[in-house]
Amino acid sequence: MKNKNKLKKKGFDERFDQGEETIDFSSGIITHGLSKTIKLPPMDVSASLILKGDERIKTYAESFVYTGSCDFVLIPRDWQDVTQALRQAHALKTPVTFAGSRTAMTGASIPDSGMVISLEKMNRFLDMGASHGEMVAKAEPGILLGDFKNKISDENYFYPPDPTSFREAQLGGTLATNATGEDSYFFGSTRKYVQELKLILADGSEKTITRKQIPIISTKNKAGYFLEGEEIDHLIGSEGSLALIREATLKILPQDHDFFSALIPFSSFESCLDFVVQTKTHGPKLRAMEFLGPGAYEIFISQKGIPSFPKGTVCLVYLKKDFENEKNEIACTEIFTWLQNFFKTEPSFLDSVFIALSPKQKENIRQWRHFVPATVNENNRKRMEAGGGKISTDWWVPTEFIIPMMSWVYSESQKMGVDFLVFAHIGDGHPHWNYLTKNPDEKKRVENFVEVMCRRAVAYGGGVAGEHGIGKIHHNYLAIQHSAKTIQKMRELKTRWDPHWILGRNNLFSF
Ligand SMILES: Cc1cc2nc3c(=O)[nH]c(=O)nc-3n(C[C@H](O)[C@H](O)[C@H](O)COP(=O)(O)OP(=O)(O)OC[C@H]3O[C@@H](n4cnc5c(N)ncnc54)[C@H](O)[C@@H]3O)c2cc1C
Repeated sequence: MKNKNKLKKKGFDERFDQGEETIDFSSGIITHGLSKTIKLPPMDVSASLILKGDERIKTYAESFVYTGSCDFVLIPRDWQDVTQALRQAHALKTPVTFAGSRTAMTGASIPDSGMVISLEKMNRFLDMGASHGEMVAKAEPGILLGDFKNKISDENYFYPPDPTSFREAQLGGTLATNATGEDSYFFGSTRKYVQELKLILADGSEKTITRKQIPIISTKNKAGYFLEGEEIDHLIGSEGSLALIREATLKILPQDHDFFSALIPFSSFESCLDFVVQTKTHGPKLRAMEFLGPGAYEIFISQKGIPSFPKGTVCLVYLKKDFENEKNEIACTEIFTWLQNFFKTEPSFLDSVFIALSPKQKENIRQWRHFVPATVNENNRKRMEAGGGKISTDWWVPTEFIIPMMSWVYSESQKMGVDFLVFAHIGDGHPHWNYLTKNPDEKKRVENFVEVMCRRAVAYGGGVAGEHGIGKIHHNYLAIQHSAKTIQKMRELKTRWDPHWILGRNNLFSF
């Protein structure tokens, strides 16, 4: 093996000394298992490599929603490795998939072929300080969003985007999907906070884009590239298909007031939705309004430590309210006064409202809430093996259509005879309906129904993919949302950034 000492000194995976692989970085050739040759960037790498045939490759080529394949995974420790790898991939037209923590719900971070660049080691928090009168923080993409939040919280600042997967997801993944979370109800999506992105382009060259104008506010995505925005907006939510994000400068806010959380039980789906819409249009100002509906409520209360709710509870609303500068009691009283309007005939429900004031209690609620999708995903592989699998919706509708849309979907879902649950961002008209299909027939029926739902959501002025993106499994949604002309513009944008269509191949569009 040429360059062996150099590589070992740099901590290169010693596996290569023992197996059948030989590697010659000066020529860029790996001979793997004596029979296969994989062309690799001729580079003086400090990266780790995982090759096809290695058990570990499964971790990068399969997820709970999508099974793909790839020739090798590069885990860089240095940006030069990435630059060289991309330069070579561009020359050889090798597909490249960028992987964060691979929690995407659409297969966007799972490759169909070629190389994966996994950013898990490119995870430094870089800096925070004032810039043009605003506080910003800079980090590399591989840092976990939870770790990024902790760093700035130590200095009494916070970064609002908060997908429920924030402890697992990498910052880069949240930028590339324009992630939203429970607090997006008040604070908006990731886009609003992105000031500058340093990129590595498809051919290995570098580019920095700085935001020029105040971002156009749209809490939920409409799928595909955000053409209404400026150049930086095209990258946010581009699902790894335009360029690699190697550094982000993000606006952060002072942590100058606290909030409380509440769990409110409802005895019917209808009364719960009525509360949501009334609160959004006429009620107290909230930070978040989430929902645990039929099916999800049962999973939620199966956990240890959950407060008890009255018999007959079918749904919960989980809300958060800022104290602003008021005293705690004033904010809590405002909520209770408002709630009284909805529980005149059900005082036991009002008595059971659970208020969380301490950081520990609030964190418990978050984790209980996160348990719902995490549990459903965990059990999905078995369903996939049987030809079924979880089908999840990501459509959203404007507030005035929450009740008609939700009531119609609930009634149709009950008729389908497929297990389902519903939860998530109801305050933004953005619930996730999850259908747990057991076989190909159920799967097909649900897929057809989801398409019908998406058409209706778009007719109501909403979107087909509020936060999860299109990835590899929802190409059909793009045409429901956008005209052929708009999709053509998106394809042209893709070609300008990535002439050989090597990046995130099969994300958004088929290659
Ligand atoms: C239980 C659960 C709950 C979830 N809850 C939410 C939620 O509340 N809100 C929400 O928005 N999402 C949610 N998600 C979806 C997912 O967690 C988010 O989309 C998250 O932002 C993805 O982060 P990741 O690091 O896992 O990215 P990955 O899945 O690894 O990648 C996602 C996309 O980003 C691209 N990418 C990754 N890093 C880079 C980079 N540096 N440069 C360019 N492209 C890159 C990938 O190629 C891919 O297209 C949830 C997922 C799970 C499993």
